[in-house]
Amino acid sequence: MKLYLDPGHGGTDPGAQGNGLVEKVLTLAIALKIRDLLKDYNLDVRMSRTTDKTVTLPQRTDDANKWGADYFLSIHINAFNGKANGYEDFIHDKLSNTSETAKIRNVMHAEIIKLVDFNNRGKKKANFHVIRESKMPAMLTENGFIDNKEDAAKLKQDSYLNKIAQGHANGIVKAFNLKKKSTPVKDTPKSSGNVHTVVKGDTLWSISQKYNTTVSKLKQLNGLKDDLIHPGDKIKLPGASKPVYYTIEKGDTFWGIEKKKKIKHGTLQELNPNVNPKWLKIGQKIRIK
Ligand SMILES: [Zn+2]
Repeated sequence: MKLYLDPGHGGTDPGAQGNGLVEKVLTLAIALKIRDLLKDYNLDVRMSRTTDKTVTLPQRTDDANKWGADYFLSIHINAFNGKANGYEDFIHDKLSNTSETAKIRNVMHAEIIKLVDFNNRGKKKANFHVIRESKMPAMLTENGFIDNKEDAAKLKQDSYLNKIAQGHANGIVKAFNLKKKSTPVKDTPKSSGNVHTVVKGDTLWSISQKYNTTVSKLKQLNGLKDDLIHPGDKIKLPGASKPVYYTIEKGDTFWGIEKKKKIKHGTLQELNPNVNPKWLKIGQKIRIK
């Protein structure tokens, strides 16, 4: 699949401006994000520009046609009277609603609208150069109105541009049924430094035993909310620490020792799975670290 990404305007043509924003800057930012979001998928991306440079409309469509793109996606920001707001997209006005281009647009439109909270102005048709002169299915998106205060406030946030880009990327993946490139499996050692690579059959418990630590410590260190681990996961290990033991005195309980030694409640049972806390004997050694 060959995707041609076309950030609108650039160079001497700033496009629409308003609320301190310039269209050519936003369209390039969004297009670069789309490209980056798709980098793990099995497609080739070519862009009409990757910097702030002047590219004419015929240069854009000629380039895409010559390259043999499968899809032409043009990114724009709208402007009108300050009041109009929202998202809309365009395919060429000679195309029927059952055309390949319209079908792809339906998917793209749905995926973009899922991620942005722009007012949905709908699926439209027009006679713009880039969607007319490109020989492959093509769409032009207008992502909010730069001269509208609410839309501009959204466009000022990089996180919002991420959402716009993600919506476009999701649409491409879905419409063209793209798959992630398979990454070559590296012959990494099972444990390197302070990391354990999970293999089939591993549990947090078995890893904790192997490396002289506890399940709760592993969970805390790795930000795990539950005990689920999967082959290939990298589990951070605590710095090599030797086990520390404590000798039971009269009246000791796990809870009392944990309080005294400022150990998280439950740690002792984890560290001493074969010890019944109800039957602690004076002089017995238990592990506390
Ligand atoms: Zn534009």
